[in-house]
Amino acid sequence: MIRGRSDNMLQVTPVRAFTDNYIWLIHSPRDPRQVVAVDPGDAAPVERILADRSLTLSGLLITHHHGDHVGGVADLLRERSIPVYGPANEAIPGNPTRLREGDRAELSALGLEFSVLDVPGHTAGHIAYVGHGALFCGDTLFSAGCGRLFEGTAEQMHTSLSKLAALPAETLVYCAHEYTLSNLKFGLAVEPDNAATARYLAECRDLRARDQATIPSDMRRERNVNPFLRCDDETVKQAAEAHAGRALHSHTEVFAVIRQWKDGFR
Ligand SMILES: [Zn+2]
Repeated sequence: MIRGRSDNMLQVTPVRAFTDNYIWLIHSPRDPRQVVAVDPGDAAPVERILADRSLTLSGLLITHHHGDHVGGVADLLRERSIPVYGPANEAIPGNPTRLREGDRAELSALGLEFSVLDVPGHTAGHIAYVGHGALFCGDTLFSAGCGRLFEGTAEQMHTSLSKLAALPAETLVYCAHEYTLSNLKFGLAVEPDNAATARYLAECRDLRARDQATIPSDMRRERNVNPFLRCDDETVKQAAEAHAGRALHSHTEVFAVIRQWKDGFR
């Protein structure tokens, strides 16, 4: 990872999986050949990068139970005895240490430590990992978007996203999918005059044309372009009201309308 990198920041390598998933490999600051994989939905591409780059897999962090996030866990653990962390309230393979908000994922030997946030909405027990200036948020927050509500309510998801939005502006956002371009097209439907969104769309088109990842994003940008973090903005509220054809009386109601709007947006 080049963008935004400085000495006290994490080194993180993306592994592409399926059509648009990213499995993140977090390098140990003590020994960069040792890595922790976040949400390994598929073992094969992870094993390939480990072999190609002479890396050692030293731990797993899981955000939620969906197959494209845990499908590779059993295979990766077949010949390894390494720590696995996952959400307290979801069934995760690999017998993980079960974490909830306030807990820490401590990988002391690697010099890595993450605090855990409960972020229900996409799934009921979804958690996120925060540490070293980075956020690993699975399918809760995407760049310029957010996860679908498969198990939770709009109110839960809005609360979860507000919690993430309160992290420091420079926090790097490592989400699990490359959805940024389609999210930004929706963002412009909600806020046609948001210059930051238009600028970011141009940047991301350029990155994708060169087959580069648009991730990580950072929280400052997300607050400026992500309509799901902007439910308190008057323009976003008015757009949601126009879409719904009625007055909306809370940020949560605004969130619920734009989440539904996005579900049907092409
Ligand atoms: Zn998911």
